[in-house]
Amino acid sequence: MATWRERAIRAGMGLFHASGAHRLAEPFTRGLGAILMFHRVRPATGDAFAPNAGLEITPQFLDSLLTHLRGRGYDILSLDAVLARLGSGEAPGRPFVVLTFDDGYNDLVDHALPILERHRAPFTAYVTAGFADGTARLWWLELEEALRRLARVDIIVGGRRIVRDCRSAREKSEAHADIYWGVRAGDETELMRVVTALASQANVDAGRLTREACLDWSGIAALARHELVTLGAHSLTHPRLAKLDAQESAREMAESRAAIAREIGVEARHFCYPVGDPTSAGPREFSTARELGFASAVTTRPGMIFPEHRDHFHALPRLSVNGGHQSLTAVDILLSGAPFALLNRGRRIAA
Ligand SMILES: [Zn+2]
Repeated sequence: MATWRERAIRAGMGLFHASGAHRLAEPFTRGLGAILMFHRVRPATGDAFAPNAGLEITPQFLDSLLTHLRGRGYDILSLDAVLARLGSGEAPGRPFVVLTFDDGYNDLVDHALPILERHRAPFTAYVTAGFADGTARLWWLELEEALRRLARVDIIVGGRRIVRDCRSAREKSEAHADIYWGVRAGDETELMRVVTALASQANVDAGRLTREACLDWSGIAALARHELVTLGAHSLTHPRLAKLDAQESAREMAESRAAIAREIGVEARHFCYPVGDPTSAGPREFSTARELGFASAVTTRPGMIFPEHRDHFHALPRLSVNGGHQSLTAVDILLSGAPFALLNRGRRIAA
């Protein structure tokens, strides 16, 4: 599953890889550094049907990536250290990366944490309150699991009937792309209706899936006490906030911070917009995050961090370390900033 933007980046990556042009562009395009986005870190499953593969990397790749970044002279900084550096307006030091992990998966503790400890690498964990207490839905994993089990789908998505055989990995991947982008085009109610219907046909236990994949509050409390961790909020139920009315959108942001404070006694000073693309978080959310007093908020819009971001702490871009191409060359091309200079037509800020 890929947006046109991701496909454009991937096509551009091939060109940069072949030509090495990103190395020439780098001094002009890489900015001060980047915020890297990760989701799951776990051993490869080897399943040919893996529509969410872009959202996971192996522990080995994380380990080699951190070794590589240190070797290239990158500072691995906490989010607060970067905000302080941007706010001070001091001369740029060495290039930096910030490591961020979304959603609050168990594997952050089981697989990523030992590696982050070994590299003395600070990181931010953005947790969704409803995943911790098992009440919110990991709908993208439910959809995957439903299609893994079903041999045929027949479902109305956004008024369009989708009927497909769903036996081979290829058929499942095609059905997934069709349904995934169909629900992404609609509102939250339609998305949950479609996923709920398919999950029910396939006997997927949504609550169990969440409990198995995500840290509960005691796991998050233990993580939050770790010296390398900055804990951030990632909404109550992981909706695309821009699709909600203003009041509900603000409630998701404020109440997730309140839930974290209530459950584990930690103030989450940073926010991460669920899904985080322009259709999921826009200027209204950026203002709300600022008004609610969050110190920063991150999107999934791709881009580098520039000095100008000192005025846009609530619309920070991130680079997805995509499980679909786990290579150090791919990361070097991303960190050069060259793909985004092209994609954003030289604009440094997308706020
Ligand atoms: Zn998320």
